[in-house]
Amino acid sequence: MKVVSYGAIVEKVRDACMEANFKLADDVRAAVEKARGTEESPVGREILDQMLENAAIAEREQIAICQDTGFAVCFVELGDRISIEGGLLVDAINDGVRQGYRDGYLRKSICHPLTRKNTGDNTPAIVHLELVPGDALKILLAPKGAGSENMSRVAMLKPSDGLEGIKTLVIDRVREAGANPCPPVIVGVGIGGTMEKAALIAKKAMLRPIGSLNPDPELAPLEAELLGKINDLGIGPQGLGGRTTALAVHIEVFPCHIASLPVAVNINCHASRHKEILF
Ligand code: SF4
Repeated sequence: MKVVSYGAIVEKVRDACMEANFKLADDVRAAVEKARGTEESPVGREILDQMLENAAIAEREQIAICQDTGFAVCFVELGDRISIEGGLLVDAINDGVRQGYRDGYLRKSICHPLTRKNTGDNTPAIVHLELVPGDALKILLAPKGAGSENMSRVAMLKPSDGLEGIKTLVIDRVREAGANPCPPVIVGVGIGGTMEKAALIAKKAMLRPIGSLNPDPELAPLEAELLGKINDLGIGPQGLGGRTTALAVHIEVFPCHIASLPVAVNINCHASRHKEILF
C-alpha cells in the first residue's frame, strides 16, 4: 500500500492551480502555433499571434493567461492500493485550490448560485473521482472559464436522429456559440450514457491532449470530419473570421439505453488550462 500525505496533495494542487493559469499547456501552444501557420485570414493570424504573445507574457511574468481563472475542475483517478494520510482527499484538493488561488493572485470566481455571494477562495473544486486498480493517484486539474462553459449543451436526442443528428447538434452548437467561447476552441463531445454521463465524458474528452488520435477507429474519422466542418464555419480566432474556429474535436462514447441518445457538447477556449499531478 502506497501512502500519500494530505500535505503533499495540498502543495501539488496549489502549485498546479498557478501553473495551469500562468502557462499555456504545451499541446495547446503547439496547436495554436500550427494554426498560425495555416490560417488564411490576416486578422486571424494577427489574433493567433496575440494569443501566443499573451501566453509568453503570462509565463514570463507569472500572471494569469486570462482574467477568468476558472472553476477548479479535477478528474481524479485513485488507485485501490493507495492511502491518504492525514485527511480526506477532497479536503486536500480544496485546500490546495484555496492556497493556489490566494498565492497566485488568481480571481476568485465561485459564488452561491442564488444569492451570488462569492465563496471568497475559489472553492469548492469540482471533483470527479474514479477508483482504479494500482498504487497511483492522478489528478488532472483543469480550471474552466465561464465564457466557454456557458456555451455547452446537453441534448436528449431520439435514437432515430442517429449520427446525422449528432453531427448537426455539434456543428450548430459551435455556430451558435460564435465568438462567446473565445475561439479557437476545443470541442468535447460525449455520446451515450445518461444525461449526466454524457456531460461528464464530453468534458473528459475535451481534455484529451490535442493532437492525440482517438484510439477508437470509428471515432477518429468522425472527429476529423467534424473539425473540418466546424472550421468551414468561418468564425475564426476570437470570432473575427478565418479558418481556425476549433483546434480539435474530441469524442468519447458510452453505452446508452435502447430508447435514448444523450449527446453533450462541452466547449473549451483557446486557454484550455490543464495540469496533471501524479503520485
Ligand atoms: S472563454 Fe477562456 S479565454 Fe475567454 S474569457 Fe473565458 S477563460 Fe478567458
